[in-house]
Parts: sequence; structure tokens; C-alpha cells
Amino acid sequence: MRYLLNWRIYRARLLPLLIVFLGYLGTAELARLTYSELSSPAILFSAVGISFAAVILAGLEMWPAIFLAALVNAFSNQNNLVVGITIAIASTLQALLFGYLIRRLRFDPLFSRMRDTITFIFVVVVSTLLVPTLGILAYVAVGLPQYPPWGAWWLSGLLSALTLTPLLVRWIPKPIFKRTRRELLEAALALTSLVVVSVLLFFTPYTIIGGISLVYVLLIPLFWIAIRVGPRIMTLALFVLTTFSLTGTILGATPLGAAGDLATRLFQIEVLDVILAIIFLVLCSSEEGRKEAINAFAEHATELEHALDKIRKEDQAKTEFLAVLAHELRNPLAPVLSSIELLKLQGVSAAEMPRLLDGMEDRVRTMARLLDDLLDISRITRKKFKLQKESVETNTIIKRSIQSVEAMIAARGHRLKVTLPDTEVWMQADAIRLEQIIVNLLTNAAKYTESGGEITLLSEITHRGQLVISVKDTGIGIPEHMRSRIFEPFVQVERPGQQSQGLGIGLSITRKLVEMHGGEIEARGRSGAKGSEFILTLPLQENVQLPLLAEKKKRRTLTSMPGVFKILVVDDNEAAADSLAKLLKLRGHAVDVTYNGADTVKKMSHENFEIVLLDIGLPDTDGYAVARELRDLGTKAFIIALTGYGLEEDKQKARTAGFDHHLTKPVGLDDIEHVFTKVRVKPIGLQ
Ligand code: ADP
Repeated sequence: MRYLLNWRIYRARLLPLLIVFLGYLGTAELARLTYSELSSPAILFSAVGISFAAVILAGLEMWPAIFLAALVNAFSNQNNLVVGITIAIASTLQALLFGYLIRRLRFDPLFSRMRDTITFIFVVVVSTLLVPTLGILAYVAVGLPQYPPWGAWWLSGLLSALTLTPLLVRWIPKPIFKRTRRELLEAALALTSLVVVSVLLFFTPYTIIGGISLVYVLLIPLFWIAIRVGPRIMTLALFVLTTFSLTGTILGATPLGAAGDLATRLFQIEVLDVILAIIFLVLCSSEEGRKEAINAFAEHATELEHALDKIRKEDQAKTEFLAVLAHELRNPLAPVLSSIELLKLQGVSAAEMPRLLDGMEDRVRTMARLLDDLLDISRITRKKFKLQKESVETNTIIKRSIQSVEAMIAARGHRLKVTLPDTEVWMQADAIRLEQIIVNLLTNAAKYTESGGEITLLSEITHRGQLVISVKDTGIGIPEHMRSRIFEPFVQVERPGQQSQGLGIGLSITRKLVEMHGGEIEARGRSGAKGSEFILTLPLQENVQLPLLAEKKKRRTLTSMPGVFKILVVDDNEAAADSLAKLLKLRGHAVDVTYNGADTVKKMSHENFEIVLLDIGLPDTDGYAVARELRDLGTKAFIIALTGYGLEEDKQKARTAGFDHHLTKPVGLDDIEHVFTKVRVKPIGLQ
């Protein structure tokens, strides 16, 4: 309300005010001139519709224009000062009441929801009561005996608001609209048929054809528009119908409702128009609502179809994956088996032995890597995967990653160029997983590049405090449409005529690991060059303090000193235990072996071992119980679990049982020695 008393808003809105004033006055005067012979102005098609449209479109601040125009019109209709002013004030209050209620009830002027249309009708019915009621009270108060009937007065306001307001609010804000040619043609046909029936009905004596009243025929184009064409054309149709029916009746051209004088006939026609307007506005909006619901439903159905399609594709990818997996696992197994056969037959010469063993080791490692990947992806997708973050120096990790792929890169005849930052770069990361990420990228670069290619690794720190590692190759490249898809599980680029070189899970694990480190990874093409580029961005924490880093570094160098330990290997698989013991002895450690829990505990209570490599599945008990017992005995040894179970639950269980570390079988000597760098007890060699 206070807003409406701020004069500045009126100064800023002079043009709309003028338009409303002229529109209101023009409509009212036009009605008065056209139907001048009528005794009462109230039954005319009034300017109420203009005032209501004005407050919807231009706001409640249009009231001065409405008031002035209503005042001028009231005085041109009759001469009593009090009645004139009362009608003008009532007309203004009526528009304000309408505008206020329609806003409060959150009416949307599109008439495309049933709720809006019902709200509109309700507010119109209530607010149009004001003018006839206050007007007649004024007539009575000043003692004028001749005044319009209340019902007719109200009806005229109602009709104007129900037909003129929807037309103006639907058409003025957006006079031009887009429809297909077919839709336009249909709208034109429906409107034309409405006009034809209206002309026959209201301007000719032919109101009944073949015994059927044309009033019923009128319903056909109206239903047509409501059901097929929509609210915008409906507002036009109702306006056309009202104009034709009123004009025809006033001109006396129609025998419709012939009984009674003109005022009665007009009243009857207005009742018909109001009823038709209410029915068809409601019907039309409910139909629009239905169409919208169907569209929304169709959209959902399409979404579901897409989802289903995706699931189908994933399912297919999984089936293909299983086939590839079986193949991939069988492939390395065959040569291992035949090598074993050879060994059994003792058909291998001493000179051939290293090559044979190398080949077997290679294949077993490949299988172990595949199984590791599978385990990772299953844990990642089941969200049972945690990073073991610590402060790590990334240059060291990159160098270590390079070491593990060097042989493969060399075997394929590629050149590898590496550029690292001059300074140490520390970050919070899981060292093993970070290495896995880089190894994956380098392995792919080597795999998907014809021999003799070039692989470039560049690591640098950006000014935004991020570590960016780029791995480029000069290989076969990745088609643009696949560059984001290759990070999905089991997705591989189909290359006609070429057999797949993997399982399609490496990159999906890589991306997940990168994301778990708070980073991101993307694949790019190389402009103007062959090959692809993978860019890995990782956040560095800036608040790592240098002294802390230095301390960390010192400790790392100490613990990574090659030490010689006293080790107990525990495994019920005697062959496995013995061969591991042999390997460790070859590396200079002092090693003993036990094959069950009881012997282990006995041995440990007599001797001091620094490291125990303890299998979980033992014949008399399990490794967890042994570890607990050893801890109870007070052993300080570094106990490492060696198990086939690599799930996070298993690791947790091992930790609570007293294990210091957990290794998933199969493990190579490298893996074991890598863990030895974590052993904090003093190696024998330093004693
Ligand atoms: P895979 O085990 O099949 O290599 P990845 O998830 O590591 O699985 O890679 C998914 C697919 O992305 C690969 O099958 C390959 O087609 C493509 N790809 C990955 N890296 C490269 C690269 N450096 N150059 C070309 N294609 C690549």
C-alpha cells in the first residue's frame, strides 16, 4: 500500500497510465455511443475488463488512470455528482481488489492450468460485486428512483472481465506467436466456423436449422478450440462470440430469446456468454494441463528409455568384458602350463631355464595385475575403498612409476622424455595409488602407440597451486566422441581389424583414484600431431610446512635404506613358503619357515624375529588368531598378512588383530621389499 502512495512511481509510468486511461475511457465511451438508445448503461459490455487487464499487466499503480477514466465516463452517463464519484471510486477499488487478490493467489495469466482459471473466475466473481453494489447504494442514497437492475449491472462487469481480460493478458505481452502451419490452419478453420455460426445465430433469422438450435452448433467450434487449439485462441473466440452476440441482439437482428424487451434479451444473451466463457476457459485450461502432463510423461518415458538403453549398453559391455576377461586370463595361463609340463618332463636345458622362468613370471604378473584391477573396480564401485594418504613427494613417485614401465616401453622401442619440476613437490596422497595412476597412463601410452613412438611425461606446478602431469604419446589417438567415454568402466575404443589390448577398466580406475585425490583427468587429442594426451590435475596443499617436509624426508631416506632382517615366513603351502624363504635368503635376509600356527607361536616365543610374513589360512588356526597371540606374547615384530582376500574389511580385520601391514596374494619380491621400507625396527645390519 505504501508503495502505491509513492508519487515517483507514477511519474516513471506516465505512458502506461495514459494508455490505460485512454483504453478504459475509449471502451466505455464506445459502448455508450453504440448502444446509446438504451435506458441503462449498466447492461453494456463495460470497461471492467480493461481495468482488470491493466492491473495484471501494468500493476496496481494504474489506479489513477482507472479512476480518472471512470470518473469521466460516469459523468457522461448521468449527471449526479455523488453517484458519478461513487461509481468512479468503486470502479477503482474493484480493480485494486481484483489485482490484489489475483496476486495473492499467484495467478499465472497463461490460462494453461485449471488452477489459474478457477482462481481467475473466483476473483472476478467476487470483485465485480463491488461496483453494482456501491453504485446502487449511491443511487438510493441520493434518492434517484431510476437505477439499473443490480443483477444486470453485475453481469455486464462479469462478462467483460471474463472475455476482455483474458484476451488482453494473453495477447498484449506476446502478440506474435509461433505455430506450425498445420496448427495455424486448424486455428483459422475453427475460428472461421465459430464466426459463421455466430453470424447465422446473431445476425440472421436462421437460428434453427433442420430443427436443431444453432446454439448447440456453436458448441462445436468452441469444443474444437478448447481441445485442440489452446487458451490463446480460446480467449479470442470468446471475445468474438461476445461481441457478435451483444451487437446482434442490440441491432435486433436475431430472434434469439425474442420474448421480452431489449434489456431482457441482452440479459439472457449475457448469461449465455458468461456460462460459455466459464465452461470453455475451464475446459481449455484443463485440456492444456492434460497435454502438459502427457508431454511431461513422454519426457519421462524418453528419459527412462535412455536410461534403459544405457543399462543395456553397460550390460552388453559387461558381457563382452567377461568374454575378453576369460580370454585374457586364459592367454597367459597356457604358456605357464606348458612351461610347467616342460619342467616336469625335465626337457629344459640349464641355458633355457632363465628365459623360461622369466616368461612364466611375466605371465603370472600380468594375471596378478588383471586380478588387482578387477578387485579395485569392484571395491570402487561398492564404495569400499579408502586411500591411505600421507605426505608424499611426487617426483619420487613419478620416477618409481617410470621404473616399473621402463622395460615395457623399451621392449616396444619407444622413447620416453620426462620433465619434472626442479624442486621437490609434496602433497597428501596415497603413494601406491598415485603410482598406479601414472603407471596406467604410461602403460596405455606405450600400448596404444606403434613401436618406435615417443612418450612425453611433463610434470609442473601451476600458479594456482596445482600439480599438472601430462602424458603424451604419438600413437593411434582417441576419436573425439570417445574421449570422455573411455573413462567409463569396460569401455574400449573399437578399432576395426584390431584385437583389443586390455579390459577397458584401467582408465575408469584411474579416474576414480584421481577424483578421490580431489583431482581431475581428461583426454585430449594433439593438435596437428598424431596421438593423444592425458592431463592429470591434482591439488597441492599449500600449507605444508617446510621443516615438516624436511623431517619427513630424513625419515624416508633412513627407512628406505636397504636393511637385512630376520624374517619368519608362515604358510601352510609348504612349497610357497619354502620358495619365498629361498628368495628372501638370496636377498641376504635371515629367514626361517613354519607351516602352522602352533609352531609359529612356539618359534616366536623362543626367537626374536623382526618381520613375520604370516598367511591367513592355516591348518590349525587362522592368521588373525596367531597375530593376536603373538601380540599377547609381547612381540614387537612387524607382522605382514599374506592373503588372497584384499577387501577393505579384511584389511581392517587384520589391523585389529595386530598386523602392521596387509599384502594381497600373489605378491612379488618387489612388493614385499617395498613394505620392508616401512619397518621401523632396527634392521640387523645396523646393529
Ligand atoms: P584398456 O585395458 O582397454 O587399455 P583403459 O581403461 O586403460 O582400458 O582404456 C580404455 C580405452 O581407451 C582403451 O581400450 C583404448 O582404446 C583407449 N586408450 C586409452 N589410452 C589410450 C592412448 N594413450 N591412446 C589411444 N587410445 C587409448
